[in-house]
Amino acid sequence: MTPVDDSTEPVVAASPQVLAGLDHWRTLDIKHQPTWPDPTAAQAASAQIATFPPLVFAGEIDQLRDRLAKAARGEAFLLQGGDCAETFAGATADQIRSRVKTLLQMAVVLTYGASMPVVKMGRMAGQFAKPRSSDVEARGEVTLPAYRGDIVNGYDFTPESREPDAARLVQGYHTAASTLNLVRAFTQGGFASLKEVHSWNRGFASNPANARYEGLAREIDRAIRFMEAAGADFDELRRVEFYTGHEGLLMDYERPLTRIDSRNGTPVATSAHFLWIGERTRDLDGAHVDYFSRIRNPIGVKLGPSTTPQAMEALIDKLDPEREPGRLTFITRMGAGKIRDVLPGLLEHVKTLDANPLWVTDPMHGNGVTTPTGYKTRRFDDIVDEVKGFFESHRAVGTHPGGIHVELTGDDVTECLGGSEHIDEASLATRYESLCDPRLNHMQSLELAFLVAEELSA
Ligand code: PEP
Ligand code: MN
Repeated sequence: MTPVDDSTEPVVAASPQVLAGLDHWRTLDIKHQPTWPDPTAAQAASAQIATFPPLVFAGEIDQLRDRLAKAARGEAFLLQGGDCAETFAGATADQIRSRVKTLLQMAVVLTYGASMPVVKMGRMAGQFAKPRSSDVEARGEVTLPAYRGDIVNGYDFTPESREPDAARLVQGYHTAASTLNLVRAFTQGGFASLKEVHSWNRGFASNPANARYEGLAREIDRAIRFMEAAGADFDELRRVEFYTGHEGLLMDYERPLTRIDSRNGTPVATSAHFLWIGERTRDLDGAHVDYFSRIRNPIGVKLGPSTTPQAMEALIDKLDPEREPGRLTFITRMGAGKIRDVLPGLLEHVKTLDANPLWVTDPMHGNGVTTPTGYKTRRFDDIVDEVKGFFESHRAVGTHPGGIHVELTGDDVTECLGGSEHIDEASLATRYESLCDPRLNHMQSLELAFLVAEELSA
């Protein structure tokens, strides 16, 4: 296997049991995988990916686990954001830059408002595979396989495009690699310096959230100038740590990117720093939970409104038996109408266990609505309400609200209703570009960051 670390220490091999365990998921029930028309081609694509270099390194993954442990203790806050489904065509410099800028802006708002370090993570460089509620999609008389994300099939509603194509697995790797390369350049090469706090706002249409951000950026500028005048060294401000994460869904992609850390012989997923298990694939005895139990990365599990305290406890036992700080994140997606009923019970139960997961709110996936004209959308007010319910629940129980997970883009799309631009049902059609779930646009993302900052400093 390709080395996954950059150390010169002696090589430690994985034990035969560990290696066999990595494939145990193949014997279990598995959901939301494509049926490849040519399974041999899919195997060949996976075998090819297994020869490619890892996308991230074990040392970075360990560093992230430390950061998330801090967030779980209430000493940091996690910001995760990006597309519902990244597309190959959308992996352009402009679109990647806009998303990174939006996340950096949100992080500054949160850091400044809450006086707390913010762990920044893109739902980027690998968010290509989607679970679907149905295997097929019908339009009029025609029924075709559902779109499962660019790493499986095409979005165009034709039989050719909807046929799963194993060559897309390899294209997914290369698209992730070039996206990650640009993200690393932006975040390490000076662009993410806090001295650039104004320039991240450039190029976005002016709006009230932007204007509020400019005010904050001016304050940060003054603070930096003051510190510099006082002789402080600002090297730390020139770079940011930026991590990647996606739903670890498509096993023909994830398994070949699982490598052995030669420093200690343990398996690491190297497709991203952080992977999560979706709401639809978190069965305790299913393939995904088994695979995730065997990789060392910090991992997440989405928890929907039907989650019982017992199901949550069983997930903790299976996925974090050692109770390792930073290992396990629960991303709750309850819906604004349910979070205040369901989340406190889970939090109370965790207090009776010797566990300390990181709690993150995904205020998007429990709040979907479809308009009479057929648009999948979400109301900004519901999103805000779920975030408030998240903070209220943690305050009531005495646990830490540790982060937020959002679907967003840096572009001025019209996919979610409301916000101070008052996007209404009629204007959804103006610029609806998502191939999957609706995303917050640049302005809605900034507005949400200001609201979360207020909650954090309350
Ligand atoms: C998603 O994050 O796009 C998603 C499908 O979420 P969930 O698993 O929470 O439904
Ligand atoms: Mn989604």
